[in-house]
Amino acid sequence: MMFDQLTSALTEVAKNLGPKQRITESSIKPALRQVRRALLDADVNIDVADALIEGVKKRNLGDEVIKGVSAEQQFIKSMYDELLDMMGGDSKSSSPMGGVENSAPAATLAVGEVGNPAVILLAGLQGAGKTTAAGKLALYLKEREADYSAVGETDEPVVATKLPKRNRKVLLVAADVYRPAAIKQLEILAESIGVEVFSMGTDADPVDIAKQAVQKAKDEGFDTVIVDTAGRQVVDKDLMMELKNIQTTVKPDETLLVVDAMTGQEAASLTAAFDSAVGLTGAILTKLDGDSRGGAAVSVRGVSGKPIKFVGVGEKTADLEPFFPDRMASRILGMGDVVSLVEKAAAQVSDEEAKKMQEKMMSAEFDFEDFLSQAKMVTSMGSLGGVAKMMPGMGGIGADQMQAAERRLKKNEAMICSMTKKEKRNPALLITDTTARSRLRRIAKGSGNKFEDAARFISEFQRMRTMMSRMSKNMPAGQDPSMAG
Ligand code: GDP
Repeated sequence: MMFDQLTSALTEVAKNLGPKQRITESSIKPALRQVRRALLDADVNIDVADALIEGVKKRNLGDEVIKGVSAEQQFIKSMYDELLDMMGGDSKSSSPMGGVENSAPAATLAVGEVGNPAVILLAGLQGAGKTTAAGKLALYLKEREADYSAVGETDEPVVATKLPKRNRKVLLVAADVYRPAAIKQLEILAESIGVEVFSMGTDADPVDIAKQAVQKAKDEGFDTVIVDTAGRQVVDKDLMMELKNIQTTVKPDETLLVVDAMTGQEAASLTAAFDSAVGLTGAILTKLDGDSRGGAAVSVRGVSGKPIKFVGVGEKTADLEPFFPDRMASRILGMGDVVSLVEKAAAQVSDEEAKKMQEKMMSAEFDFEDFLSQAKMVTSMGSLGGVAKMMPGMGGIGADQMQAAERRLKKNEAMICSMTKKEKRNPALLITDTTARSRLRRIAKGSGNKFEDAARFISEFQRMRTMMSRMSKNMPAGQDPSMAG
């Protein structure tokens, strides 16, 4: 799971701060020290970590202190805002803990047109995932709709309706002439996604290849050209020069560095190094699916000043997503709301019932029937708005958003009602099973919803389950979860 350690460390800090205590310079000091340690443990760059800490401190002690919220809420909200700004989002215009509806990608990608194609140059160290990223990006730009084949495997599927329409005609260019296998690899990739490749073999000059490819694209109505350049083993002078020559010749709209998230803050300094050598427009952070720490995602922009534009979340060509700073910030902070929900729900229903529910939630057995009864508990507590007030970071949430959330809850309930008994009791059928896609389609239809709604619900459900089992691991055996915090 992504960012495991950072998430649990931050959740822990917020919990220790206590729900009611007011924030003072001395009360916040230990928490800040802990956060700093957690960030450094997650391999966040030290300057970035210190800037984050300073920002959190300012937000908690300065003029921006929000009246009437608990120390924990205030602290999490400020941490969220700082992470958001650090990764290229904008805490001033974003709503608290913004969900999918509110997110905006960190940065956009240049858009070309027929006759004047956008040229995207990909650079990177060997093994970073550059060739794979070329194929992924080509598929992403080619497709009109997001691919849902990975639902349940990634934390959050790309929501098709929220993305600009694509449907681009892409030309992939094999300009890595030093590694013969690279051309073959790109050709195989391209064939699998139905995209044309331009190659002149291994004897040609990369600058010439790029030049001719762009000409071909202009002549033949391609609107996007993606150039896969030679991989570097280290930051190598000759190859940098070659990259510069390609830039001078084809004047790319984008030069993106492909960096491996598993290298942590290395990824950030590498981005800075490439930027000062050749100038970048952004980065593609790959292998985020294998990064359990989070240092790269948090550090890249802070260190290099360049935004992460896309993230790779798996080996398949569909595993590329635009980078959303707000979603990433929420993900890093985890879902602190679940604990409060359990507590409040437990106070409302009979002890017996609550205990049973908690046991379920803490085991990995939580299924859709349980979700339904949990939703009923929440509803029985009054409006969702009332419940939301106690969720960390949600103090300032508006009535409109609450109503939207209530509608979504109703929608989810309707979708559960369209599930078969077997599906309700065995969520895996809707997550990892080979029949998941067609089942989701049926459920969406049966409840009068779109496929995307069903896919999103399943993904949220999945994330909630992961959170619950993670919390249970952090909880000493036998401890009553309602007493935690
Ligand atoms: P290049 O040398 O930079 O062109 O790297 P490749 O594209 O050949 O990728 C190197 C390895 O990383 C391959 O085994 C890829 O399957 C793998 N890879 C690339 N991107 C990702 C990703 O986002 N997630 C995971 N898990 N593996 C990836």
